[in-house]
Amino acid sequence: MQIQAINPDFEWKNYRKVTSGTGEITASFPKVYKPVIAATTAHRRLAKIYEDGILSPASDNMKDGSFLIGQWLNLYGLLYSNEDVNLTDIKDEKSENFKVNLLTNRNFFDDFFTHAGIVWWIVQVFNLFRRTKYKEKIGLDPNKITTKEAASLILTVPNPLRVRPSLSSNLTFTPATWAARKISDHETTQSQGNLNSISTTWNVSYLDLINLVKETIQKNLEALNEFKFNNLNINLIENPLDLDEKKEIPGNKIRIRKIQTVTPPKNLITFIWFLLAEEFTEIPNIDFENCNGYFDKEVSNKDGSLKKISGCKNVLKRSRFRPCIYCNELVYKRKEKPENNNGRLLLATEQGITVCTNTNNPEKFHKHRQHKRRWCSQSCRLLLRKNSKL
Ligand SMILES: [Zn+2]
Ligand SMILES: [Zn+2]
Repeated sequence: MQIQAINPDFEWKNYRKVTSGTGEITASFPKVYKPVIAATTAHRRLAKIYEDGILSPASDNMKDGSFLIGQWLNLYGLLYSNEDVNLTDIKDEKSENFKVNLLTNRNFFDDFFTHAGIVWWIVQVFNLFRRTKYKEKIGLDPNKITTKEAASLILTVPNPLRVRPSLSSNLTFTPATWAARKISDHETTQSQGNLNSISTTWNVSYLDLINLVKETIQKNLEALNEFKFNNLNINLIENPLDLDEKKEIPGNKIRIRKIQTVTPPKNLITFIWFLLAEEFTEIPNIDFENCNGYFDKEVSNKDGSLKKISGCKNVLKRSRFRPCIYCNELVYKRKEKPENNNGRLLLATEQGITVCTNTNNPEKFHKHRQHKRRWCSQSCRLLLRKNSKL
């Protein structure tokens, strides 16, 4: 799906001034922006907040969530508007500003991190789809895997039952709902049998994961918007003969729009579900790279004291394979030892070959042309550049 399929005129509000600390967030100076342009990877940013706020809170100011949610409000604003949920107790009567104390308003905290947790879980599954090696190729491409193969390919994912339970009135269906649902007799039960709430991981078939993710996205978008996937089978092929080596599958070449949307997103969380739907249909052909301003930075003030600037923690969407400037082979970035996520970042072919044999190449490895766009936004670039000593 092209992102343009989401109504490009969809507007939302973020807050130019946000202060946070000891559980309290004050947000003011709302500013209208267009998520289609400025929030193209917001689903991954939300997943990152779940990691930093719930899974491994780095410092005390992260533990109460106010700093992280504050940063989110500054970047993207509230997940829904006050028409969707009752925000009267946090809204400032006279203006569009608002104030919330997360320690007393637990609903706000729970609701935010419930959404973040579900999005995080789906993003982990997408990452796994992109990294998994199958038939000597890295990245699972549903266009090249049969339903039968998908049913016997077992993957290990985080246990969906351990992601924060659905505490939000606005979430209709979660991965845990799917995983723990009652199943009819004629359905295969292999993945469900492996699921219990104690284990940190879940061994589940690729086929079940596809169905789970598809249904979770579909159900949540149905509830929020008029939405459907065009092809419910997400293109798993039925006939292994199509895999005949060099013959390309025609469906691969024609750009089929796999998602249809009728109305513009109702709110920011709907937009985020669209981003998940979009990424789902683009695997394994896209990848994400850290923005240049991703990491926190310590800079010195005029008086010599150190000041910490929070990194944006944003990623940029890239096409996964690009040609090597020397040999023209399509290569993508991967860790030297992907099994344990160690080593240098090298460029490899789909088959995992990192060495470039082109005689014009002065180095041993493949090389890409630099990307032109390396910052998530103009404001991120200005903030980090201004304070950079480089
Ligand atoms: Zn090369
Ligand atoms: Zn950035």
